Amino acid sequence: MKQYDALVVGAGPAGSTAALYLARFGLQLALVEKLAPGGLLLQTFEVENYPGFPKGVKGYELADALAAHLEPYDNITRIYNEVTAFKTEGNKKLFLIDGEWIAANTAIIASGVRYRKLGLPGEDKLLGKGISHCALCDGNFFRGQSIAVVGGGNSAIEEALHLAKIVSHVYLIHRRDEFRADKVYLSRLKTLSNVTLESSSVITRLHGEHQLEGLSVKKIHEGTEKVLPVSGLFVFIGFEPAAGFLPPELKLDQNGFIETDTEMRTSLPGVFAAGDIRSKLCRQVVTAVGDGATAALSAYTYLEHQHG
Ligand code: NAP
Repeated sequence: MKQYDALVVGAGPAGSTAALYLARFGLQLALVEKLAPGGLLLQTFEVENYPGFPKGVKGYELADALAAHLEPYDNITRIYNEVTAFKTEGNKKLFLIDGEWIAANTAIIASGVRYRKLGLPGEDKLLGKGISHCALCDGNFFRGQSIAVVGGGNSAIEEALHLAKIVSHVYLIHRRDEFRADKVYLSRLKTLSNVTLESSSVITRLHGEHQLEGLSVKKIHEGTEKVLPVSGLFVFIGFEPAAGFLPPELKLDQNGFIETDTEMRTSLPGVFAAGDIRSKLCRQVVTAVGDGATAALSAYTYLEHQHG
């Protein structure tokens, strides 16, 4: 069985930062990532609130910079695969990756989140055929067309602002009148002539068999319904934790996020969590990076105590 001092699950901002700190402590570690390094940054057009970048920074640029920062460290083994199970045996942390168990003395879980779905009939079938969770990746397919964005948080508004530059018209559908998004984004959106706010509205039906052809949208209070003739729907209605591989004895909050203390310690000794997978209020790149550094120091301290 392969054996490392530490294993980090996820190479988004939290996992990459944890790996950087662990590598600099001189540990032998594995960094496991099933997709490209960068996490949700790769699906984010621009990060405007990362301190030190007054003009904003493109998500992929920040992701590339994080990955480049790890390159000089030959004590990091990169594993491009998915963790499908995780268990502890005594002090060992065991991870099932591509049918093989890999052991570590300490672990940092930074597996992040996945986009939430609307739960409408046909949604899975139309994913990639009009429905998307990534404006940066798919926006260009809809150049000059009418599209809809659903959601009222920062993701929905930010991505709608980006899409409005590419497509002919954006309908922003939100189930309430109040928005969670920062005021600065919302006021910018309201100045755009090719954006229509469809607030207090829900999507009741997706039209189209093999390609999205439109949406039925219902005004919640009036009960009236209309069809929006859009070819694209960008769904930004929040996230769910990527927690399917976690063992039942690891304590989660009521929404399935990992509970930690301020030092990123979980309910399992020697197991730490960092970034969006953690139960917390502020899910930002900058907090993920901070979590990663804290988790790495805690993991290192844990190993020091283990070795007396
Ligand atoms: P979010 O803040 O959780 O907002 C999700 C939105 O989707 C809410 O407006 C919610 O409506 C709506 N929604 C949830 N379930 C729905 C459903 N089934 N049908 C229709 N609408 C539904 O999610 P997010 O915007 O993806 O952001 C997640 C976190 O990342 C937040 O902490 C956010 O601040 C952060 N983030 C930050 C930035 C930034 O600072 N630059 C950018 C992106 C994301 P209700 O409001 O009615 O609940």
